[in-house]
Amino acid sequence: MKIMPNRLDRGFYQYQEEFEAKALEVLRSGWYVLGKEVESFENEFATYLGVKHCVGVASGLDALWIAFRILGIGTGDEVIVQGNTYIASVMGITINGATPVFVEPDEYFNIDASKIEEKITGKTKAVLVVHLYGQASNMKPVADLCKKYNLRLVEDCAQSHGAEFGGRMTGTFGDIGCFSFYPSKNLGAFGDAGAIVTNSDRIAEDVRIFRNYGSEKRYYNKVVGTNSRLDEIQAGFLRVRLCHLEKLVREKRVLCERYLENLHNDKIMLPKIREGATHIWHQFVIRTEVRNELIKYLDGKGIGTIIHYPIPPHLSEAYQYLGIKEGSLPITEKYAKTVLSLPLYNGMAEEEQETVIDAVNRF
Ligand SMILES: *Cc1c(COP(=O)(O)O)cnc(C)c1O
Repeated sequence: MKIMPNRLDRGFYQYQEEFEAKALEVLRSGWYVLGKEVESFENEFATYLGVKHCVGVASGLDALWIAFRILGIGTGDEVIVQGNTYIASVMGITINGATPVFVEPDEYFNIDASKIEEKITGKTKAVLVVHLYGQASNMKPVADLCKKYNLRLVEDCAQSHGAEFGGRMTGTFGDIGCFSFYPSKNLGAFGDAGAIVTNSDRIAEDVRIFRNYGSEKRYYNKVVGTNSRLDEIQAGFLRVRLCHLEKLVREKRVLCERYLENLHNDKIMLPKIREGATHIWHQFVIRTEVRNELIKYLDGKGIGTIIHYPIPPHLSEAYQYLGIKEGSLPITEKYAKTVLSLPLYNGMAEEEQETVIDAVNRF
C-alpha cells in the first residue's frame, strides 16, 4: 500500500456530485469573476466566523500583503511575527517594505506570547499571529499587548479555518484576519483563493476597492490598487465545502485523536493541544531527533511525509538581506530540524492510518 502525505482527490470525491453541479452552474451562468457566488461565499464565511465582513481575494499571500498595505504599514515599520512560519507570512510583511521581527515559538508551534514585549520598539506597528498547523494561538496575552502598545493585530489563518481560542474563532481577534483557500488547506478551493475578514466597515471597503484596481465604480479609480479578485467557480466550490466544513474538521479530529492515542515510540514527540484552544489539524506534526532515518524508514514502507518547514524564513536565501545569523532563533531552528508531518487528509482510510501507525511504532 502506497500512502501519500496528502490526497486532495479524496476531498473532491467526498462531495463529487456537488462540486460538479456547482462547476456546471457557474460555467453556464456567463459570469466568472466577482459575482453572486463570491458575494454569497463572503456572507456565508463571515457568518460562520462571527465577523462583520469577508472580502474575497486571489490568494492567502494577497490577503496578507493587502492587509498590511491597507493598514498603512510599510517602509521603516516593524511587524512582529513568529520565526517558524510558512514564508508567505513574512512576504506579506516585506512586500510592503516593512521589516519582520521574529519571535520564538512556544511548545504548541505558535508565537510565544511571553517573548513579544521585549521585541517591541518605537518602530513596531503590528503583530502578525500565525495559527500554525491549525491550532489557535494564545490570543489573550497577544491581544492585551497590542492594546497596551497600540499595535495592529493581524492573524494569518491560512491553516486555521474554524479553530477557536476561548470559544472565539481565529481571524476575529484583531484588525484583520487573512485566509488562504489553497487546495491543501482545511477549507480548500480547486485553485488559488483567499479572503480578508474584519469587523471594520472602513477596512472592508478599502480592501474591496483595492482588490479591483482601486475602483469602486467601473473605470473610476480612487487609488492605485491591484488585481486580486476571487473567481466565481472557486467561490462556488468554497460554498460547497463550507457547508461540510464542520464534518470535515470532525473527521480530521478523529484521525488525529487516533494518532495521539496509538502512536508509541520514544523517538518521537507528539503534538500538544493548548488549554482553551482548539486544533483543526491542518497538519499532524511530530518532532524527532532522528528525522532523516524516520523519513527513509517510512519511505521504504511506501509512506510519504513532508517537512513543514525545513528552512525557517530568516535563514532562507530570500531573507539573507535581513542579516539574521544562524543560531539567533534556536527554538525556531530546532523545530525546522526536527518537525515532520505524518500523512493526514479527509477521506483517509482507517487501514491507511493503521499502516502509518504500525510503521512509526516499529521504527
Ligand atoms: C498557505 C499559507 C499562506 C499563503 O497562502 P497562499 O494561498 O498559498 O498564498 C500564508 N500563510 C500560511 C501560514 C500558509 O500556510
